Amino acid sequence: MAAVNEAEIQAALAGIAVPGRDGDPISLGMVSGLVVKDGNVGFSIEIDPADHEVMEGLRKICEQTVHALPGVVSVTAVLTAEREAPQAAPQAAPTQPDAGGIPGIGAIIAVASGKGGVGKSTVAVNLALALAANGSRVGILDADIYGPSLPRMLGLAGGRPESADGRVLEPMRGYGVACMSMGFLIEEDTPMIWRGPMVQGALEQMLRDVAWGELDVMVVDMPPGTGDAQLTMAQRVPLAGAVIVSTPQDIALLDARKGLNMFRKVDVPVLGIIENMSYYVCPDCGHRAEIFGHGGARDTAAKLGVDFLGEVPLDIEIRETSDDGRPIVVSHADSPHAQVFRDIAANISAKLSGGTAKAPPKIVVD
Ligand code: ADP
Repeated sequence: MAAVNEAEIQAALAGIAVPGRDGDPISLGMVSGLVVKDGNVGFSIEIDPADHEVMEGLRKICEQTVHALPGVVSVTAVLTAEREAPQAAPQAAPTQPDAGGIPGIGAIIAVASGKGGVGKSTVAVNLALALAANGSRVGILDADIYGPSLPRMLGLAGGRPESADGRVLEPMRGYGVACMSMGFLIEEDTPMIWRGPMVQGALEQMLRDVAWGELDVMVVDMPPGTGDAQLTMAQRVPLAGAVIVSTPQDIALLDARKGLNMFRKVDVPVLGIIENMSYYVCPDCGHRAEIFGHGGARDTAAKLGVDFLGEVPLDIEIRETSDDGRPIVVSHADSPHAQVFRDIAANISAKLSGGTAKAPPKIVVD
């Protein structure tokens, strides 16, 4: 089926009467930010907040009308208002990008990957919890705005951040780590079609208009890939460094190299590569199988001139615990896999403080 295009959508919207006004949403200039991607359509309808209720009806009609066009897979129309709208997420105050970082936040590190599905979010969450287990005050920001999975991974799905003053949001907390995600602010089944600037705005809002408090480290779970959106984020967030998560195959396919180049382009130091799904240990016999070969990541990292931060095995418990909202670092803190993450976290902390990596202190009871 031929993909729907912007002109067809505009023509369909031009046939709808706006209640109480003489005209249609297009001629009245109410529709903005129209995006069409693979049959998924998104746009905003600008309204006067006083008309919110009646315009909700218009929004639904617009969605239904566009949905009826051939080639349309999904439609998301959102109402936007210049003035403060009821129920809207707090409006971003015009934030002045300060020269340095965010007040109160020691270091912001990005966890990125050349493509999706390599376990970036799983690693980001376990890394944040491992940094906390090593004694740091930690926040985690879900910048994977297209597929926010942190609320679920931290057992916070369905939660709603609160705001005391209607402007600054309180972060949610999971296992002692402060967390903010677009996933808290939108319904889980809402298709995420955002204009670039909207994505950027949402990210900056989550970074700057959230009462993060004092943090030693903020871990940012980046959207997968190395396109323009990722590049802009890497540029606009005051990053102290970036960590690239990769599977052995991607390292071979050079996806990791794209990630490296992206951060180098914007002068963000790459702290190193983490190889995820690196090897498999048979839970029954303890045999370690190097499914994708071994040592490739370490060698590739060396060739690319970046540090190799560690390897995380392919393990059913890592998957089940992270998908269940009980990441392995907290639910199986004594496991070797949790230790892998704590070692990587210690390594990263040492790099951030300019020292050399050393193992986290072991607790000794006399
Ligand atoms: P990404 O953020 O790169 O898209 P996710 O972190 O969402 O990837 O992981 C994708 C899937 O792979 C999830 O179901 C996750 O539980 C699983 N997964 C990630 N890392 C591992 C691992 N080391 N062992 C087993 N499963 C893993």
